[in-house]
Amino acid sequence: MKIIPIKNWFGDFESDPLIIAGPCSAESEEQVMETAALLKATYPPAVFRSGLWKPRTRPGSFNGIGHKGMRWLRKVKEEFGFRIAVEAAIPKHIEECLKGDVDIIWIGARTSSNPYSIEEIAAVLKGVDIPVLVKNPLTPDIDLWIGAIERIYSAGINKIAAVHRGFSPFERTVYRNMPKWEIPIELRRRYRDLPVICDPSHISGDASLVPEVAQRAMDLNMSGLMIEVHYNPSEALSDSRQQLKPDAYSDLMNNLIIRKARLDDPVIMDYLEELRDQVDSIDHQLIELLSRRMELSDLIGEHKCKNNMAVLQMERWLEILKTRISQARKMKVGPNFTENFLKLVHEESIRRQTEVMGKLRNKGKCSGDDSVDN
Ligand code: PEP
Ligand code: MN
Repeated sequence: MKIIPIKNWFGDFESDPLIIAGPCSAESEEQVMETAALLKATYPPAVFRSGLWKPRTRPGSFNGIGHKGMRWLRKVKEEFGFRIAVEAAIPKHIEECLKGDVDIIWIGARTSSNPYSIEEIAAVLKGVDIPVLVKNPLTPDIDLWIGAIERIYSAGINKIAAVHRGFSPFERTVYRNMPKWEIPIELRRRYRDLPVICDPSHISGDASLVPEVAQRAMDLNMSGLMIEVHYNPSEALSDSRQQLKPDAYSDLMNNLIIRKARLDDPVIMDYLEELRDQVDSIDHQLIELLSRRMELSDLIGEHKCKNNMAVLQMERWLEILKTRISQARKMKVGPNFTENFLKLVHEESIRRQTEVMGKLRNKGKCSGDDSVDN
């Protein structure tokens, strides 16, 4: 994929990082204009967002003002000079956005979850030059996300950014949607020129958590933020809990630490290189040690098999956990991390022991088998 960098999407585009802010939904002319005016007066974003059509999880919720709101957004554009972003879920929305002079279209999580919907949207985008943001699907399936991006790209759209908005959890978590940061990181590893923007509002689900998630996204060097801001969140018709008041939004932006990598400074880069060399060497040793540990697991499996012992010895496993976590604590390695790591190692060790025992048993070499001969 050859993607156009955000800074070249429009002539004079402020995009480092790209800040998109505005209400979840357009509700009334007053709400849209008042929110835009407060954004302009506090910390003007490059792009004003607002949903006109809201694909809601449950019927009966406010599902958007529709076409009527387009005129308000055009007014925002004219009065405040913001670029405008609107969500499109079906081909008709795309057509209305193009007619309404919308600058950026975004595809929501419910739509990117469905390749068939994306195909339909891609078909109407053929031959159109407009930036498209693709939010991640509801499930943490990186290929589904990539599939949606590829379908849009195949329609000839080369101004694309992915938007990380978290993944629906199965159980209650602190956040409304699980960030699973490893997924956007992996997406960036696979597509080096694909910008990934974070939507801390939909990850958090709660206004008080938005700043920490936004900062995390900046620490991970994401290309921008999409933040929901409403002039009066408590009265909002959608996503009321997570929308920020304009002053909370400007506090967030003014306190945000944006770490600009100084990739051209040789002193900084040499030291980083040195530290990375040490990490490489330690990783190498870690894998060697893991390999030796697994070889011992194979021998233990063999021994248990010959002596008719069960693979899992609960006492021993509890002892391992206790002693290792206590050592880790002393050495300032987090106990949760250590426990998770040990569990993975233990799982693999059991798998290897079971495999060894299975093979020996097939050859009749385990104790209890008729053919045991040693
Ligand atoms: C939104 O941006 O208001 C929205 C509906 O987001 P998502 O598709 O990420 O749920
Ligand atoms: Mn929303």
